[in-house]
Amino acid sequence: MLHFSCDVCGKDLISGVSTRFVVKMEAFAAGDPAELTEEDTDPDHVEEMARLLNEQEETGEDSPTLLPACKKMRFDLCRSCYRKFLDDPLGREAAKLHFSEN
Ligand SMILES: [Zn+2]
Repeated sequence: MLHFSCDVCGKDLISGVSTRFVVKMEAFAAGDPAELTEEDTDPDHVEEMARLLNEQEETGEDSPTLLPACKKMRFDLCRSCYRKFLDDPLGREAAKLHFSEN
């Protein structure tokens, strides 16, 4: 029998007992000519991208070349973690709370 546990809280997800929710994420750098969509070719969007890239070069922050061009991730979540994920997929609320502690 396949065994799964929640990738957030570690709770066991027993088949037929606990409902398992799967979250698939795909992260990739926009601007790859092979991946261009209509949205990406919007002039304002391209301009914004160029501006952001220039800023990155100037400040010397994380070089884009060190990042994987594309990363696919898959998570198994229990019901409660899945609900939290849907409410706040990027953990922004958690980040706000963290910052307010300062
Ligand atoms: Zn969980």
